[in-house]
Amino acid sequence: MNEAPATLHTGRHFLQIPGPTNVPDRVLRAIDMPTIDHRGPEFARLGLAVIDGCKRVFQTAQPVVIYPSSGTGAWEAAILNTLSPGDRVLMAETGHFATLWRKMAEKLKLGVEFQPGDWRHGADPATIGARLADDRGHAIKAVMVVHNETSTGVTSRIPEIRRAIDQANHPALFLVDTISSLGSIDYRHDEWGVDVTVAGSQKGLMLPPGLGFNAVSDKALAASRANASPRSYWDWQEIIAANRTGYWPYTPATNLLYGLREALAMLEEEGLANVFARHDRHAAATRAAVRAWGMDILCADPREYSSALTAVMMPQGYDADHYRGVVLDRFDMSLGTGLAKLKGTVFRIGHLGHFNDLTLMGTLAGVEMGFDAAGVPYTPGGVIAAMNSLTGRAENL
Ligand SMILES: *Cc1c(COP(=O)(O)O)cnc(C)c1O
Repeated sequence: MNEAPATLHTGRHFLQIPGPTNVPDRVLRAIDMPTIDHRGPEFARLGLAVIDGCKRVFQTAQPVVIYPSSGTGAWEAAILNTLSPGDRVLMAETGHFATLWRKMAEKLKLGVEFQPGDWRHGADPATIGARLADDRGHAIKAVMVVHNETSTGVTSRIPEIRRAIDQANHPALFLVDTISSLGSIDYRHDEWGVDVTVAGSQKGLMLPPGLGFNAVSDKALAASRANASPRSYWDWQEIIAANRTGYWPYTPATNLLYGLREALAMLEEEGLANVFARHDRHAAATRAAVRAWGMDILCADPREYSSALTAVMMPQGYDADHYRGVVLDRFDMSLGTGLAKLKGTVFRIGHLGHFNDLTLMGTLAGVEMGFDAAGVPYTPGGVIAAMNSLTGRAENL
């Protein structure tokens, strides 16, 4: 083998994609335990603890179903339990993930109305409300929205969409994907009147990939009971029944549940309000850096800036993936790629999960040094602008 050795990296890899995110040592150690009998008494204590803790993070008193699955599995579970082939649903084109959820809905034979979007804005409450007001026969069975569109760094205004549904006096179920927002951006399943909240383990929850979640309202549960279309593995009823005593109808992902118990404890020790404020602060500092570099943020509406990630538009004529490759090679940092139609023109900085001021500063220093290394034109000073934003010095300058 005469191949040149791969660049030798020391220290920690910076995994600054918007999921999977960096897993805290505490969580890794919690997972590193013998697998126990999932029918035994010790397991029931674990099962009850994680279900209870999840309710606090989803901000719900209603059932939270945990699947051994990726987020995509939890998407499918939300659809299969509440909807049947032929049902009409209203979705909004916020970006790549909304488009993927739409494709799944179509494969499952739903009739999807996809409100077009420019991938720089969230789902529009007014457009959704107007369409529902028009639907006097209540043909639309569900409104399905991605809360934090991970491909664009745009966060849709869920409470406003709820109000639009209510103002139209429409009975449609409200299904929301929080896969990249839960545990990072304020989200309230009960208060915001969401019927199914879909989540995953590997983003704000700081776990490895492998758990999917559905928080389920009474209305969604009733819809699932009335829904005759076939499903088995994903069916809520049996799981919720077994969960009452802390068990699952099949073998759960025991070791990931150990990790979940620890991650929930970390979120609660910090306090959810503080977790959200921390993400807001890091996102604001990131935007200060991007502006100082003379670059544009993909999200076009300041009300919809994501606190979990920032998508940065590359200067014209420079390839984002080439730049990302240089950053990975030189600094051992992974930045998020531009997905689908954003390929090459956008890169994404993940600032969610297990993260602090210095992780942010290290990340932004890697981004800024990467511009030089890759020959990308920029105005120096983004790192200092972010530092001033974090220290509060920006306001006094
Ligand atoms: C990551 C993500 C998904 C897909 O989740 P997987 O775990 O990869 O199946 C869906 N929606 C959003 C908003 C995401 O961020």
